[in-house]
Amino acid sequence: MRILIAMELEVKIPEDRANVNEIFMAVQSAMADARSKAATKVIEGYEEQVIKTLCGAGGRKAKKGLGGHEKKGEAGKRCGYRTFRGAGRWSDERTLYGGDGLVVRFHPRTVQCVGCDKRFTPILDALELGERQGKSDELLLRVTQSVAETSYRRGSDQLEVFGEVPIPKSTAHRMVAEVDMPTSKSEEGTILGADGTGFKRQPGKKGEVRFVLEIKGNGTLHPIGVWAGTSWQQISKEVKQRQAGQASLFFSDGERALEKWMGALAQEQSRCHWHFSRDLSYSLWRDGVSKEERDDEKENARRLLAIELSAEDMEELSPKKRTELKGRIESAEAELADLERIFLEKGYDRAATYVGNAKDRLFGYLRTWMATGIACPRATSIIENLIRELVRRLKKIGWNWSDAGAARMGRIVMVRRYDQERWDEYWKRKMNLQGRCTASLIRCDYTLSA
Ligand SMILES: [Zn+2]
Repeated sequence: MRILIAMELEVKIPEDRANVNEIFMAVQSAMADARSKAATKVIEGYEEQVIKTLCGAGGRKAKKGLGGHEKKGEAGKRCGYRTFRGAGRWSDERTLYGGDGLVVRFHPRTVQCVGCDKRFTPILDALELGERQGKSDELLLRVTQSVAETSYRRGSDQLEVFGEVPIPKSTAHRMVAEVDMPTSKSEEGTILGADGTGFKRQPGKKGEVRFVLEIKGNGTLHPIGVWAGTSWQQISKEVKQRQAGQASLFFSDGERALEKWMGALAQEQSRCHWHFSRDLSYSLWRDGVSKEERDDEKENARRLLAIELSAEDMEELSPKKRTELKGRIESAEAELADLERIFLEKGYDRAATYVGNAKDRLFGYLRTWMATGIACPRATSIIENLIRELVRRLKKIGWNWSDAGAARMGRIVMVRRYDQERWDEYWKRKMNLQGRCTASLIRCDYTLSA
């Protein structure tokens, strides 16, 4: 169908003098109104055609998929009839909101099935709107985007959607709460990282939000998932289902449940070096070791772990260098085994156990790099920066989250920031964009009138 919209714009310059600022501002303000009015007329024209089609002769095919309805008085049963008569309009006004302050208000028309007498509103179906849905997915996209980027006006409870219509924060949150953003599948041979952090759950309770991410060969980060109130065991299970193949390395701060459950998803494990020195020092403290000796051991650990590689090494590993590197890893691991023994002899049981558990997991990143060529960091700071950012945003959004809500919001924030492809895909599917409508301005002239 083709719909022609005629508009008349009246511009008044009473004293025949106006400057460019005045003219631009007047036109822009009228256009904001014109957009909503034009959209309203398009929808009314569209509706008229839909009703005409439905009430005309012709069968199911001629009605182009329109007019499907539930049989009157028989819940869940579809009616086979496709012949209708007009049945008036809603007495209530229906309001639809789009982005950029677009508002459409109209009284939708109803039809009645000649077979079962059911009355319904065909324009809602034709517009792909739910029975009570007033906000378009287009508006939802803009609100979600703004919430994910926390572009709140400073000191205000209003969310500015493209600087036009302010939406109360609480309304925005309610809207975004229904967005369930899927995350990526995990590819084979990448590096997996995971971490968790506390967040303020409903008053008085503390929750923990956890996420899993993946570092790909080219160094890009990909969120794999965000959870809250879920055990690492369960998370591991879910991630495994989404893995295309085993990860080459799992990278963490050494938390036991993480290494146990998430570590099983990768060929190698690597423990953050920064956390290793810190946690070793803590174990020694619990063993009653003096500050001085603890500091010495910390320094020793740092030296032991320091197998530095230059950027050139990263580029190309010659067979000679490869052998040399292997030798250095082996001797460092042997030193760690010695350290474990010495601690045992001194009666530092906790520290000995700590070193014993960690000793095979400190150079996983180097072994992975040699095997796959994926450069992997020695410290988890890359993961920690990410979680800090997530928490900062959740805090700024400032909501008394439930576990489900925090996880969902966490996914929105992560996908928006790190997975543009997945973001676009989600909205394209949700908005069901198929290029079925185009509009162009075909005439714009002026006449002077007295
Ligand atoms: Zn019917």
